[in-house]
Amino acid sequence: MKELSSLQVAIVGVGLIGGSLARALKAAGVTREIVGMSRKPETLNKALELGVIDRGETQAAAVGPVDILVIATPVRAVPDIMHAFAPHLSAESTVTDVGSVKTFVCEAAERHLGDARSRFVPGHPIAGTEHAGVEASFASLFENRTVILTPEEDVSGTALETVDAMWRLAGASVVRMDPRRHDELLAATSHLPHMVAYALVNCLARHPQAEELFRLAAGGFYDFTRIASSDPLMWRDIGSTNAGPLIESMKTFRAELDALIEALETRDEEALHRTFAGAKQARDLGLARKNGDR
Ligand code: NAP
Repeated sequence: MKELSSLQVAIVGVGLIGGSLARALKAAGVTREIVGMSRKPETLNKALELGVIDRGETQAAAVGPVDILVIATPVRAVPDIMHAFAPHLSAESTVTDVGSVKTFVCEAAERHLGDARSRFVPGHPIAGTEHAGVEASFASLFENRTVILTPEEDVSGTALETVDAMWRLAGASVVRMDPRRHDELLAATSHLPHMVAYALVNCLARHPQAEELFRLAAGGFYDFTRIASSDPLMWRDIGSTNAGPLIESMKTFRAELDALIEALETRDEEALHRTFAGAKQARDLGLARKNGDR
């Protein structure tokens, strides 16, 4: 692993993920300065107050030379940020991001990063909460979590080592994957569950007795729909930039729902039991394997 120390780091988007990474790198004692960049001065003031960053800027030109640039904004903002930073990056700067969709940011890097494209290492930490903003950030967010890196084949070895080492310092383990495969897998495991949670909550919210339903709903309903409290803008961007794989996952899910409706309509108790037993077995096994992996 490449040794990192005395790093000049810029983090664009000092929210849950950017703020947590800043805290983790500070805790690891490897930074000389962390510069935060955001649209709103209030966000930067809050991050400075909390000691998450050392300096705040609202313009790329004011950030200065960096060893690592981390883009941690909602995905749709990434191309403009790359475009704004490209003229200010030195030949030593490594660029990475944390976006939940990877094909979109890889294509943006191709178009907007210029020479720095070969030093761009796209990343996605499989860690988070339903809360947003720097106030929700914490240093241990990435501990024992996985970060997926989706670099192009011709990426600079030094840039790849730098980003790999950065995430290991934050406590995560790192795996590599093709960006398209990442987007298909995450559509199924993360993006689809969010769509289902949003749809389920709206299904109740549009009911004429919505108020009573929400009052009567058991803990299981709120557990299941916790992720529907996630930031709507972030999820708008994830949905629109990963629409193809997400639609495929949603169609597969719709077929499962249709099969359940048919089993209910025909009072097919055997099919119902088979469906529920199969799901229980798959979930129990998946969870045991995941915990065994740790
Ligand atoms: P967040 O808490 O809402 O933070 C996003 C930050 O980006 C905000 O502080 C916002 O501050 C800033 N921002 C938004 N647009 C900007 C722009 N155009 N230029 C500069 N700053 C901008 O969101 P998050 O949860 O950290 O998510 C950030 C990224 O991480 C997203 O791409 C998301 O897909 C990815 N991700 C999220 C999770 C999760 O569970 N939350 C997990 C893995 C990956 P201002 O409003 O002041 O600009």
